[in-house]
Amino acid sequence: MKLVFCRQCGLLLPPGQYRCPRCGQVSAQTSAPTPPPPPPGPCYPDPPRDDRLTTARYLGALCLFWLPLVGLIPLLIFAAGGTRSQDLQRLAQAYLIRQVILSAAALVLAVLFVLGPNLPLLLMLLGRHRLL
Ligand SMILES: [Zn+2]
Repeated sequence: MKLVFCRQCGLLLPPGQYRCPRCGQVSAQTSAPTPPPPPPGPCYPDPPRDDRLTTARYLGALCLFWLPLVGLIPLLIFAAGGTRSQDLQRLAQAYLIRQVILSAAALVLAVLFVLGPNLPLLLMLLGRHRLL
């Protein structure tokens, strides 16, 4: 049975009735049906997917990304969406973000070490600020 909703206020009309009991709007049967409001309550559209990563595939992908320089190629391809698996794409993006953060941290450490003689003093100051 087709559900009819009021075009004015969205009220679900009783079967066979086209005059809204709330606002009086007449919804003609021949007019294009308005899209019904979303059904109450949460719905869980979770169709079965075959692109979910198993633990073994996660491990394989991580080992692949871990390869120096060579691993960067599939990492960038997967992160840019060059895979059908959404899991793999998200994994690659997360790994890429982590790599950027680690690289930034390494850069900061390198700059600190270049400062050389002042490093102990700097670390002491940083430590003090962190403690306070
Ligand atoms: Zn109405």
